[in-house]
Amino acid sequence: MNNSKHIDTKTIHAGKVKDKQFGALSTPIYQTSTFTFENVQQGSQRFMGEEEGFIYGRLGNPTVRELEQRMAALELTEDAAAFGSGMGAVSATLLANLQQGDHIVASSALYGCSFALLNHKFPQFGIEVSFVDMTDESAIKSAIKPNTKVIYFETPINPNLVVVDMQMVANIAKQNQLISIVDNTFMSPVLQNPAEFGIDLIIHSATKYLNGHGDVIAGVTCGSKEQIENIKLTTLKDMGAVMSPNDAWLIIRGLKTLSVRVERHCSNALKVAEFLNTHPRIKQVNYPGLPSHQGYPLIGKQMRAGGGIMAFEIEGTFDDAVEFMNSLEMCAIAVSLGDAESLIQHPASMTHSPYEPEERAAAGISETLVRLSVGLEYIDDIIQDLSQALEKMENRLKQVS
Ligand SMILES: *Cc1c(COP(=O)(O)O)cnc(C)c1O
Repeated sequence: MNNSKHIDTKTIHAGKVKDKQFGALSTPIYQTSTFTFENVQQGSQRFMGEEEGFIYGRLGNPTVRELEQRMAALELTEDAAAFGSGMGAVSATLLANLQQGDHIVASSALYGCSFALLNHKFPQFGIEVSFVDMTDESAIKSAIKPNTKVIYFETPINPNLVVVDMQMVANIAKQNQLISIVDNTFMSPVLQNPAEFGIDLIIHSATKYLNGHGDVIAGVTCGSKEQIENIKLTTLKDMGAVMSPNDAWLIIRGLKTLSVRVERHCSNALKVAEFLNTHPRIKQVNYPGLPSHQGYPLIGKQMRAGGGIMAFEIEGTFDDAVEFMNSLEMCAIAVSLGDAESLIQHPASMTHSPYEPEERAAAGISETLVRLSVGLEYIDDIIQDLSQALEKMENRLKQVS
């Protein structure tokens, strides 16, 4: 399909494989572990790469392949690889590009498990990591060493929503012949396409907006044909975090409504952020869609809107934040994001508990910071729930004092 079509059209049609056998509108689920060959010669040719076709489920599957082609079209890259989880994508993508003795420059604030992988696991294999403030151009430049291979970051950053200028990072990477890798989970390809700015590899936890219905764990990496082939033939094939055909089918289904869902997530989130921003019990609202936010100037330039996620600090203590969350009636206390349901979590006790307290402080994660993934519920109902929980917290504080 013509890549010049609008993203709203592409989420439905781009990368679709026509079912030549029956003309099925919905993608068939090829629930099979292996693929039979006509004869030994054909098997041999497939293994040699002389004939196109599938061999074994860990090396590729038609349903999964369609999702990969759809994601490449949405992210404006040549190809994509699907994984059994977002972390499967993160680990396989990084390790395919690194070896013992190499060095990574990474953002000091990252998704909790990505941080754990880089901070705790990689050093055990002789891969060095320097954590820097990714908004600070000179800090990134001075962290680069002769053995640096990769720059790894997210934007907006989880969970403080700091926005990183991708053009700036891509330029540094190019000047120093480094591979730039971004985790684009928070924005989805509907709101931002890192490839447009020269970022080499784009990772998604497909568990979140891409699927959007809270019923799949999966990941995707998008990039050049050469990069994706390298990942598929090494860390995807041999470490084996492959996506199941059923999950690929659910994500393809989810993708068809991605644009309309993201649009509602964004409009709801902006209204929630404006409500919280003027509330006396809220210290600070980190939402890129608010004009006061550090990332606001990049809206329209790098990202098409502020997204569906925000983090805010409760005026009070760790316990007040906990009490506020326990008083919510509709918003679900849960990690993950990008689902129809509004989901709320407390990074200090949940996703970012792998950080030491000093590391949390360095990453801008306070003890009362709460992350909210605004869902698709009616906006007044979301605000009403937050409002009543803040009121309950306030009333308790009055009783105490
Ligand atoms: C959830 C998430 C991941 C990890 O994805 P899984 O599918 O849970 O493995 C990575 N990065 C970000 C930003 C995420 O939100």
